[in-house]
Amino acid sequence: MSRLATTGEVLQLIRSGEALTRADIGRVTGLSRPAVALRVTELLGRGLIVEDAEGPSTGGRPPVRLRFNAAGGVVPVASLGASRTQIAICDLAGDVLVRTDLDIDVEEGPDVVLPLLMDTWTKLLDGQAPVVGVGLGVPATVEFAAGRTESARVMASWTGVVIPPIIAERFPVPVLVDNDVNVIAMGEHRVVYASELDDLLFVKVSTRIGAGVISGGSILRGALGAAGEIGHIPVRDGGGVLCRCGNLDCVDSVASGTAILRDLRAKGREVLTLADVTALVRAGDAETMAVVRQAGRWLGEVISGAVNLLNPAVVVLGGDIAEMFQPLVSGVREVIYQRSTQLATRSLRIERSTLGPGAGLTGCALMVLDHVLSADAVDAATG
Ligand SMILES: [Zn+2]
Repeated sequence: MSRLATTGEVLQLIRSGEALTRADIGRVTGLSRPAVALRVTELLGRGLIVEDAEGPSTGGRPPVRLRFNAAGGVVPVASLGASRTQIAICDLAGDVLVRTDLDIDVEEGPDVVLPLLMDTWTKLLDGQAPVVGVGLGVPATVEFAAGRTESARVMASWTGVVIPPIIAERFPVPVLVDNDVNVIAMGEHRVVYASELDDLLFVKVSTRIGAGVISGGSILRGALGAAGEIGHIPVRDGGGVLCRCGNLDCVDSVASGTAILRDLRAKGREVLTLADVTALVRAGDAETMAVVRQAGRWLGEVISGAVNLLNPAVVVLGGDIAEMFQPLVSGVREVIYQRSTQLATRSLRIERSTLGPGAGLTGCALMVLDHVLSADAVDAATG
């Protein structure tokens, strides 16, 4: 490092495992022993690191090992869904300590949902380590810097609501809010793929379709936070279906879970929920497989555009429809390999999400931790 490493930067070295002892820190940063001692003492005092009694002996006095203290604070998180909300308390490593699910309809609006959420966090916290930040994933487009929900047609009662100040009244810490698919993409990448790749496209297909983009290891939000809204990209030959956004043949209107149910019912099939469709797929029902595969082709159209633009190493398919992975992915593959460039598809993987419904909670925690434990934030707090 060309200038003196700060306390926050020293924390990053310890968190990442690059430095395990005071001597390591000195070697990596070039800081003098007193300067290292000053920064380590500061981090110990704030409970962000702890000393492990004995390191491995190399003859003489064994060096004291330094370790990031995941128990040094907690992060209340929530992943709001249309009908079900997951709530948890995570530690500073992003691991879920305690979790519960609430059956609340988000359409009840922020005046009902947010107080209920905060009451639940308070109950779950039960006086645990200090709250360092709060993270929320919501099923809406979010203007990220402001924490403002934007979309007018989904979660109508939330439109224009700036969530962080409402939560900060009870939890006076940084409050970060993002689109639900973005937080799932962050969780999926960090937990499953971070060690092997930096570029991931997560596509969630449930009642609606959305995507989260991890580029160069970080979530790509765009200028305001609307990146990844692939649901309203139109497909060719969609048949002229009117989308809820007012345009024709958006992929959301022809390939979402809602669209699959509608198409099967139009064929006279009695399917009430996506679980019914999944059961038919598992039973190998030809008509259902054909409908899901066609949805996959339409989905493949927009994904192939995204692949050309972003060159991800892996496309991860998640959401309720991931349960119908086989016919869906065969449709997606068929079109991607026709339409995407050779270089972009040379080693492209298309995988099914493996984290399941907890991914959003982990992603929320990581979003908060990346913010509050960043070198800049730690140094700002040091003053
Ligand atoms: Zn649309």
